[in-house]
Amino acid sequence: MNITLNIFIFLILGLIVGSFLNVVIFRIDDLKSIINTRSHCQSCRKIIAWYDLIPFLSFFILRARCRNCGQKISVQYPLVEGTTAILFVFLYLMYGLSWNLFFYLIVFSLLLVIFVYDLKTQTVPEILVWTVLVFSFLFGWYFGGFGIINMLLGGLVAGGFLYLLVYSSKEKWMGAGDVKIGLILGFLTGYPRAIFALFFAFIFGSVVGLMLIYFKGKNLKTAIAFAPFLIFSTLFSLTYGQVLINWYLNLFISR
Ligand SMILES: [Zn+2]
Repeated sequence: MNITLNIFIFLILGLIVGSFLNVVIFRIDDLKSIINTRSHCQSCRKIIAWYDLIPFLSFFILRARCRNCGQKISVQYPLVEGTTAILFVFLYLMYGLSWNLFFYLIVFSLLLVIFVYDLKTQTVPEILVWTVLVFSFLFGWYFGGFGIINMLLGGLVAGGFLYLLVYSSKEKWMGAGDVKIGLILGFLTGYPRAIFALFFAFIFGSVVGLMLIYFKGKNLKTAIAFAPFLIFSTLFSLTYGQVLINWYLNLFISR
């Protein structure tokens, strides 16, 4: 199979899935409406024509405004669609055409919904989190290639650590929802990589937190959603974790 053609296919597939994920994010509190209702303008309620529903492109063709009433269209649409497309191509390049790819495409698509939802609302959508948690628990050890024991250890380390943080701070630093995301991180990366993944999530969170304080004048008490960092770190550790660990160990061995 031609790799360029495959990249193109996964790009298009990602854009299409991304536009579906947008609908899920907007309507997650009313899951039935995802199937029952056709896409309509949030402002004038007019049903959107098929030619204005092209993922990513329509937003720019319409110059971010509804064709009917001129109301602004949320930038979330192209952002989520573009990110999903990049995610799909990236995972394809990491795993090739395989069952692993299929598994991680599903898992990270759902995690992307949780990611965006948490950024918007500072809460995680329970039903989705539980779905990913069960899914990771059932298959994480198999597709991660580290076995059931290491998966359970990974969940214990990451979930346990976050549990201690959440309950020792009485949910001031992060919410109970983050414990479940921590479990997902542990199940997907396994022991010992889960330690690295957790560590990286905190580093990344601190850097972004400091940037927000510096550029946006936020203070330390302003809650920032932590689930996005856990999710990003899971993806990073899964794909590049081993490379980084090897590099780090080599620093000591080569001396
Ligand atoms: Zn409108």
